[in-house]
Amino acid sequence: MLNTNWNFDNSYARLPERFFTRINPTPVSAPELVVLNRSLAASLGLNAAALESEEGVAVFAGNRIPEEAEPLAQAYAGHQFGYFNMLGDGRAILLGEQITPQGERFDIQLKGSGRTPYSRGGDGRAALGPMLREYIISEAMHAFRIPTTRSLAVVTTGEVVIRETELLGAVLTRVASSHLRVGTFQYAAQWGTIEELQALADYAVQRHFPGFENAPNRYLFLLEEVMKRQAALVAKWQLVGFVHGVMNTDNMTISGETIDYGPCAFMDVYDPRTVFSSIDTQGRYAYGNQPYIAGWNIARFAESILPLLHDEEEKAIELAQETIAQFPTLYETYWLQGMRTKLGLCTEEEEDKKLIGELLHLMYTHRADYTNTFRALALDEWDFCAEEFRDWHTRWQARVNRQDMTKDEVQQLMRLNNPAIIPRNHRVEEALEAAVERGDYSVMERLLHALSDPYAYTKEQDDYAQPPAPSDRPYRTFCGT
Ligand code: AMP
Ligand code: MG
Repeated sequence: MLNTNWNFDNSYARLPERFFTRINPTPVSAPELVVLNRSLAASLGLNAAALESEEGVAVFAGNRIPEEAEPLAQAYAGHQFGYFNMLGDGRAILLGEQITPQGERFDIQLKGSGRTPYSRGGDGRAALGPMLREYIISEAMHAFRIPTTRSLAVVTTGEVVIRETELLGAVLTRVASSHLRVGTFQYAAQWGTIEELQALADYAVQRHFPGFENAPNRYLFLLEEVMKRQAALVAKWQLVGFVHGVMNTDNMTISGETIDYGPCAFMDVYDPRTVFSSIDTQGRYAYGNQPYIAGWNIARFAESILPLLHDEEEKAIELAQETIAQFPTLYETYWLQGMRTKLGLCTEEEEDKKLIGELLHLMYTHRADYTNTFRALALDEWDFCAEEFRDWHTRWQARVNRQDMTKDEVQQLMRLNNPAIIPRNHRVEEALEAAVERGDYSVMERLLHALSDPYAYTKEQDDYAQPPAPSDRPYRTFCGT
């Protein structure tokens, strides 16, 4: 038998018991591997050939527990659309943390692996379509250089899950630098002792900010750093036109990775009000709201760790407020920096923000495709005939020419920062339909290949750059995942 090279440690299981319940995945009847991420497997120090064997697949299905894994479901809470709830892993189980040959630590989590004490009314299961969707989009995000959880494998279970209709069940193996969430801290603050809250905060510092374990003001530092990472993350989402769709506090990580690919989708036509999720009727999580929601979530994080910031409550509140007040500026700095690179600018001028705002406004009024507008600028294939566009283009060219860069260098900078393609909803749906309805994974394989280097500007990618036909709009994502 080949050795898969699982190499587990279980630091989360050493936290106080309140933070989890030990539980094994529920076995499934007929597991079958449908997609394996070989390059990710290699970077985790795993042997892809062994993972594909019957014993290897049994682990992805939850039918076999690797030696030294200590499976558990994590407890957490969260504000869902503004309302506070007790949640927890209702259909996910953490097998443990894989220690890579380089000594890095990654959570290995099965999603769709059966009921847990946190399942509430749910069946603990997942359907194939949504798990493949998470696989495609999270891997695309990784290729965009956006921090994200990743997808190692999807197996079908041979069992049916009941949603609006009967669907084929599946389990996704998710890889994350941790699954600590803002909601984990909310849970500790609401139901834990101060010692438990502190143990969680110390754990987060140790795991994500090693070297700062004994810093005197480490909890304030934790707040600042989590805030920075989230500001940087959401700026990246905005720059690429990603709409997360369900930015509840349980879906916001401490690591700064994107997590929970449910109703997410990429914007085609530029419009800040873009919403894809069928349940987000108020547009709370619309594209243009994401930075504000991130700030709101960070405020919930600050509240949760308040008792750790200072012994006196008033002082603690003051420190928290001072810190989170910086979020909007921090976010804008990251965003503006990213927008400059998208427009081929390596210097800073006072008027840049205005110039960028004008382009976005033009896109909005002319219903221009967000990605393809930047793509056209990067390729120097600008053929917008509207006079306002031409006028903007002239001013942008003048701005570009005020820097010490050759035309080639400008174009290179732009190509590096404007994806030639995004996972367009109609193309993702087409891939999922072939896989789920016909068991044909070739459409998805091609899409994954094209998306694996979205900045390549290859011939193969041209086809994926086409926006959807008007009949494919408006696109809606459904939460019955
Ligand atoms: P999500 O919308 O994916 O962030 O999930 C919100 C909460 O619902 C989490 O606690 C999930 O574990 C739980 N959940 C989602 N789907 C199911 C399901 N089919 N069975 C049990 N729990 C679920
Ligand atoms: Mg979630």
